[in-house]
Amino acid sequence: MARKSKNVTKNKILAFFFVLLLFLMGYKFSAYEEIHTKPTNKTVITDGELQIYFLNVGQADSIFITNKGKNMLIDAGNNADGNLIVEFLKENNIEKIDYLIGTHPHEDHIGGLDDVIKEMNVENIFMPKKESNTKTFEDVLDAIKEKGKKIIAPKVGDIFSLGDASFEIMSIENDAEEANESSIVIEMTYGTQKFLFTGDMEVANEEKRSWNDIDVLKVAHHGSNTSSSAEFLYQTLPEIAVISVGKDNSYGHPHHEVLERLNDVQSEVYRTDLDGTILIISNGQKNEIQKLDIVCDGDI
Ligand SMILES: [Zn+2]
Ligand SMILES: [Zn+2]
Repeated sequence: MARKSKNVTKNKILAFFFVLLLFLMGYKFSAYEEIHTKPTNKTVITDGELQIYFLNVGQADSIFITNKGKNMLIDAGNNADGNLIVEFLKENNIEKIDYLIGTHPHEDHIGGLDDVIKEMNVENIFMPKKESNTKTFEDVLDAIKEKGKKIIAPKVGDIFSLGDASFEIMSIENDAEEANESSIVIEMTYGTQKFLFTGDMEVANEEKRSWNDIDVLKVAHHGSNTSSSAEFLYQTLPEIAVISVGKDNSYGHPHHEVLERLNDVQSEVYRTDLDGTILIISNGQKNEIQKLDIVCDGDI
């Protein structure tokens, strides 16, 4: 009997250590998982498709587009976002920006351009000739000068290629009185799909020309009601509309009238404040949408 009870005690001790071991293994395993599920800037950039990242830069714009190793960045967020955008690009092994677009000289569009110009190999820099007397604008000019680059102000109707995609300048007003109205507006075509990037263009710009039926619209001016008129939306009839906007911003963007107008033309709306970074992958026939946990907003 004595011997049996000793065995029971021994088994109990063994069982205790076994459970302890399982617990430790489990703990270790969950710690490992935690490390590997942390949000990361890294994403998979596959060849042969057009990928468009509407980066979450808060109340600002920054759109990265890549196809067949050719890269374009439309705007670079606020001043505080520049380094985070550079980090995102470098983590994804982007070495060269073939087209860097500063749509118009407002801080929420050109704020991070100086960091991108300093840190990356930038080929073409497109901006309207419209100037600004802000330090942000001066910083961009200094960075361009330091790199021995020149600003190109493209003309309406100019067409360029980005890998297998092409893009056309739809609007630019070098002598606009108001900076938003100087915005470079780009229509990109890939296969049968059309994408319209509008900067902060206003209704006055929308009324100056006719627009094609498009598939994806970057809603102008963060969803302000001074853009995206019913007339413009009935011409463009975007299936997908993306609004780049900051959480609880002081402008009340996106304005409810704009959301109603988008609803009237049955656009599927995505917002960086609610959905985070929005990735559109296009095969030229249809577009797939992903919401990514990439944050390039330096103001939070
Ligand atoms: Zn603006
Ligand atoms: Zn803006």
